[in-house]
Amino acid sequence: MGGAPTIVWLRPGVGYTAPAAASMRRLERALGREHDCNSSYRDYDEQMRMYNAWQRYVNSGYNPRYKPNHSRAIHPDTSEHCAGIADDSDDWTTPGYIDLAAEHGWIRTAAWDPTEQHHFTYQWWKDQHRNDPEPTTVEPATVEPAEEPPIKKRKLTMHEALIVHEPTNALLIVNVRERTLISLGKDPNSMLRAWYAENHPWKFMGGEEWDRTFGKGSGYSYVGHGTPAPE
Ligand SMILES: [Zn+2]
Repeated sequence: MGGAPTIVWLRPGVGYTAPAAASMRRLERALGREHDCNSSYRDYDEQMRMYNAWQRYVNSGYNPRYKPNHSRAIHPDTSEHCAGIADDSDDWTTPGYIDLAAEHGWIRTAAWDPTEQHHFTYQWWKDQHRNDPEPTTVEPATVEPAEEPPIKKRKLTMHEALIVHEPTNALLIVNVRERTLISLGKDPNSMLRAWYAENHPWKFMGGEEWDRTFGKGSGYSYVGHGTPAPE
């Protein structure tokens, strides 16, 4: 185990090495808001806990009973999260965000894995803004925030199921006939989410029913916001 890197915290829970933190500040300035962050720097012990939990799940033959409430976690010695250069962000679903992040050196290095669509790694040599002078004024947003459809309290139809997408903890209304979904957000304390959770039974994505409906290992990456994948 090498020494832990020195981490610059942008705000509680959002920290990286100094160059990555500077880049994230520039990226957020270009975005016009704070980016969504599920996880950034993780210390060795925390990553080891996640790694062990994931190994237990793998060794069980991917028994859903043992599925941890996070996505695939690798050993802390090779984890980019422990190196302070990784960011897990649901903004990957925000139109334009992936390209904007890439321009700032944040690359989706695990995009081959359907459950790791949210993982970005800072690659300084790809950061086209690393030599930018510090701006003195705030630049206008270049990316519109995702248009969230207004979701009203309503009963689910017979074709809809309430499913938690475990890697992000987002609660989804999934229409199993149309193969579309609506996100109720990942804030467990939101009123809307609480209302749905109380009034309907819900399942975890990755369970049998999800696999039957959408295929094993599929998720946001195939289903998208209201856009089913071509067969
Ligand atoms: Zn990650």
